Amino acid sequence: MNIAVLKETSPGEARVALMPDAVKKLVALKATVFVESGAGLGAARTDDDYRTAGAQVDPDRDSILSSADVLVVVNRPATEDFGRLKKGAVVLGFLRPLDEPSQLVPALENQLTTFSMELVPRITRAQGMDVLSSQANLAGYRAVIDAAAQYGRALPMMMTAAGTVPAAKVFVMGAGVAGLQAIATARRLGAVVTATDVRPAAKEQVESLGAKFIAVEDEEFKQAETAAGYAKEMSKGYQTKQAALVAEHIKKQDIVITTALIPGRPAPRLISKEMVASMRPGSVIVDLAVERGGNCELAKPGEIVDVSGVKIVGYLNVPSRVAASASSLYAKNLYNFLEILIDKKEKKLAVNWDDEIVKATVLTRDGAVVHPNFAPKSAA
Ligand code: NAD
Repeated sequence: MNIAVLKETSPGEARVALMPDAVKKLVALKATVFVESGAGLGAARTDDDYRTAGAQVDPDRDSILSSADVLVVVNRPATEDFGRLKKGAVVLGFLRPLDEPSQLVPALENQLTTFSMELVPRITRAQGMDVLSSQANLAGYRAVIDAAAQYGRALPMMMTAAGTVPAAKVFVMGAGVAGLQAIATARRLGAVVTATDVRPAAKEQVESLGAKFIAVEDEEFKQAETAAGYAKEMSKGYQTKQAALVAEHIKKQDIVITTALIPGRPAPRLISKEMVASMRPGSVIVDLAVERGGNCELAKPGEIVDVSGVKIVGYLNVPSRVAASASSLYAKNLYNFLEILIDKKEKKLAVNWDDEIVKATVLTRDGAVVHPNFAPKSAA
């Protein structure tokens, strides 16, 4: 069983799919792990670290690809990489089936078996494989660090002989995995934190982290959570009430972190340009939803926009800004997933196609799109 780890080629990507710890565990399962030379450098892991863990480090990307039974990736492989794999090989990673699905056609043509890790179901058994959570958690942390770096003042209250620095006021919009970590991080840095969400379950979680919960808690709010635990898109009436509440609150805030998302929909617009204009110069907004259209009307992907002294940070791929930690958790997620694909006694790949985690994540197999949510139009 040859497992391949390549140097990621997406612009700005510093993460790597497997860290040496995970390699070591796979080698113990009698896998041969091939790592492209330099693959771990963005996550502070050298070729020697991989060799020590038992990997075969090779500078020849093509030869690694052509011998791989399993290719593990962070980002969807490029067309040419899909093309170099042998028929029937397995590919595992963030394959983004909703985003330009035509780029998955080479995987179909080459009869690859592909698993999209963002589809791992949010059930207890799969928690250790939940790449969305592991990466969102670090993005929430990093958003606060990025905000603090742009903010020209200290976050904690400081009483010094030269005077007192007041604590920063931080407002977190969207209290899912990223938002809750942003709250916890801002609290650890000494900020006074408030947060909002449309799901009633978020209230207790926000309060348990020592932040104040602010929301329009009407009848619609009480029903805003789907059976899967996600937010619903709110009605126009609710959005108007929410905007009035946010407008009043935001003008008193120093830092705003936005993380609000609705599965399969563009990010909800929560901060208008008028709200930005109402904030004091020196304030900072970090929009973690910028890749999905942005929670802030003025956020621009990959840029820091300055609007009359208010900085709006729209960094892309925030988990990659904490590459070593993000890679470490991601690699553990992948290892946990690979464990269910491997027969540990026989020490070979043996996929149980009836396993609910396998069924929820497999996208393509034997030249066909097999995932019910993406067949057949995702192949178009
Ligand atoms: P997400 O990334 O889809 O959305 C982020 C947050 O934005 C959510 O809390 C959502 O309610 C909120 N939001 C959406 N519209 C909003 C609006 N208009 N205003 C304010 N906030 C808005 O969510 P997520 O981080 O993936 O988490 C969603 C839920 O799933 C949470 O309850 C989380 O605890 C749960 N979860 C469960 C598991 C598990 O059981 N294994 C794992 C991870 C997350």
